[in-house]
Amino acid sequence: MPVAPGSPGALESYTFDVVVVGGGIAGLAAALAAREHGAEVILAEKAPREHRGGNTRFADAQMRFPHEADEYCPRSYTAEEMEADLMRISGGRANRDLVRTLCQRAAETVEWLTSFGLEWEPGYPHTAGYRRSPKAGGQGLVDLLYRQLEGRGGVIVYRTAAQELVVDERRVVRGVRCVGPEGVVDLLGRGGVVLACGGFQANTAMRVAYLGRFADSLILRGSRYDTGEGILMALAAGAQPAGQWGDYHSAVLDARSPKVECGVTALYNYQMGIIVDREGRRFLDEGEDFRDHTYVKFSKAIIERAGGLAWCIFDQRAFQREEFARAWRPVGPPYTGNTVRELAEAIGVPAANLEATIASFNAAVQPGEYDLDKLDGKRTEGIVPPKSNWAMPLDQPPYLAIPVTGGITFTFGGLKCDTRARVIDTRGEPMEGLYAAGELMGEFFYDNYPGATSVIRGAVFGRIAGEEAARRALGG
Ligand SMILES: Cc1cc2nc3c(=O)[nH]c(=O)nc-3n(C[C@H](O)[C@H](O)[C@H](O)COP(=O)(O)OP(=O)(O)OC[C@H]3O[C@@H](n4cnc5c(N)ncnc54)[C@H](O)[C@@H]3O)c2cc1C
Repeated sequence: MPVAPGSPGALESYTFDVVVVGGGIAGLAAALAAREHGAEVILAEKAPREHRGGNTRFADAQMRFPHEADEYCPRSYTAEEMEADLMRISGGRANRDLVRTLCQRAAETVEWLTSFGLEWEPGYPHTAGYRRSPKAGGQGLVDLLYRQLEGRGGVIVYRTAAQELVVDERRVVRGVRCVGPEGVVDLLGRGGVVLACGGFQANTAMRVAYLGRFADSLILRGSRYDTGEGILMALAAGAQPAGQWGDYHSAVLDARSPKVECGVTALYNYQMGIIVDREGRRFLDEGEDFRDHTYVKFSKAIIERAGGLAWCIFDQRAFQREEFARAWRPVGPPYTGNTVRELAEAIGVPAANLEATIASFNAAVQPGEYDLDKLDGKRTEGIVPPKSNWAMPLDQPPYLAIPVTGGITFTFGGLKCDTRARVIDTRGEPMEGLYAAGELMGEFFYDNYPGATSVIRGAVFGRIAGEEAARRALGG
């Protein structure tokens, strides 16, 4: 429950212009933006210094943003196209105002990050001419922004977990009560509090409550510290829940990945082969769309339709391609077999089934030009499920199999916010002094996820939240 300013129970109380909770991309962007506006800022991070950076530090941190055609990518990508993509992939359910703000401010926010010295990989990853990756990945990104914040006079406290909002009798959010290394402290913000402390993916109890029983055993790809406190303390103070609380982001992971904080162990090359269940049967259309538009839903299909374990099967035609290795960071070697039967025996799948699956798949492949850079329409005919693009026969041994499962990256449900990153209460009114950014904002993603949009969402709305809170503290 929220506490009143000055209520007993805290050892000390410290006052700043802006209090930021959480130090991933959203919190760092908020703190830096507030500093740029001249605000005194404190950032409270729950993790110890060596584990700071949240989910962001485990990511490649690829960012999608509108851009002109350039030397690397002959095709431009407009803010309108990006908005249309995000709306389409959410089935029309995303909050268009929030999505539009994200798309319209993404390019300038990328420039803003570059102004801190962020270096980018040259070019755009395969099949996705709308996104770029920081050279040093998410870890390099957060390290750079922490250095910048320290250098610009931002105060950072580690091992300090926000637990309750400090709310006055006029329902204005004045600060946040935290547990730190010395005990309980109140951090008060003249301009308010920016909650940027992630979703509830690392909280098993919340996962089971909102996602379902199966969710207790999902591999957690990112930070163990994102346990949903920001969302809970805002709801306890009257914030409105929003977005798809029963769904989450995930990826097609190597099933041998570590159970917690495994980082980038996803396979993005499954469209070059087929995916079968433990019985050796296909259960989805591997070529339905670009991998950016399918990896989240396929990972859930592996959990829901294949009982949590499936196998990606390839032949040498796929394995020898340059794109194969680029889209896969091996956790272990693939299983191999000189025949389909040998492969089936190596992975414990009924050999007759796998032989029948591959034989009927090969017979169904239609002629056409194979082109991984576009939806090439090279498809199967007469089998269910079909493979709608990139269908090539599997007939060049040795054959390979990689075990895959679905993990969890972050949750989709969160807080109702407006385009100024203000948290909205259950009456539909902005909560004075309370802002949110990053994963704990609801209403962006439904059922599926458009690749490379979460880090940029954190950067765009963190920056907006920091500016708003600084303005509220200092005027202007
Ligand atoms: C392996 C992996 C790969 C990914 N790849 C990409 C990609 O390429 N592109 C993309 O767009 N997205 C990607 N994502 C998703 C993306 O990284 C995150 O969704 C995004 O970075 C989240 O940013 P955030 O600031 O909202 O949260 P986080 O980065 O998780 O930061 C939240 C911070 O809050 C802290 N915290 C939590 N609770 C409290 C509390 N009570 N008090 C104080 N601090 C608290 C945490 O310790 C953490 O540091 C990936 C994620 C993973 C795990």
